[in-house]
Amino acid sequence: MSVAYMNEEFAYYHNLWNEKKREGKEKFSSGAPLSKCISTVSLMLSDTFSGKKRYMSFENIKKIVKDLQAINYDGAVSLSLYGEPFDGSNVFEIAEYIKDELLNASVFLYTNGLYVNESAKDNINETIDLLTVKVSDERELERIRNLDIRTGLYAFMENFDVGIIKYIQKDEGSFVSMPCSSLIDKVVVSPVGDICLCDVHQEQNCNIGNIFEKMSFEKVIDSPKIRNIQGELLSGNRELFDVCKVCGRVL
Ligand code: SF4
Repeated sequence: MSVAYMNEEFAYYHNLWNEKKREGKEKFSSGAPLSKCISTVSLMLSDTFSGKKRYMSFENIKKIVKDLQAINYDGAVSLSLYGEPFDGSNVFEIAEYIKDELLNASVFLYTNGLYVNESAKDNINETIDLLTVKVSDERELERIRNLDIRTGLYAFMENFDVGIIKYIQKDEGSFVSMPCSSLIDKVVVSPVGDICLCDVHQEQNCNIGNIFEKMSFEKVIDSPKIRNIQGELLSGNRELFDVCKVCGRVL
């Protein structure tokens, strides 16, 4: 299990989002438990430890869900961060269980798309709130596009040089208003010193400041303009930039 927070500042900004979007959730203050601020819990349904494949048992999933119920968790539960979730696990049974037990949480699924097909689409529509698919080529992207996926969908292909080169998004899910942590957990600097909004669209010249114009990295990052962008993205506002309006990336 991993959590989204990288540092205290991230937690602070995310709390601003909590205040706006999650009424009733305990207010964050310094010293407040981090468990109150987590927005995504990623379950590694499998991993390869010492060359041996291990799988998360249903018993362990139940224990995690029970613990999340105890903190009234209402963020996302993501399946899965590293291992391919369809590999050896009944991912839809798990997703359904999480949905039934954590009524205010969302279920995200990240997969290579191999098993995203006609026979899986009903299960996807019923149990998954956001499906993210990393595809290997354009044909695969078109195949995913033509499936009747009615939940949130973000499918993309990328290459080593330019990152994400093509993607599709259907935004019928709830994720379009989810916060984005760009500029907090990662800052992208171009070869000429431009600070980019994020790595998703660095090829689209999304520069929002330049370290040579402002003379230092710190001055750009701590400028009111960038602080404002950070705050808006964390509040779930994706209207500031065209690239954000069509982006399905979440925290
Ligand atoms: S919403 Fe998407 S495009 Fe916009 S900053 Fe975040 S990751 Fe980048």
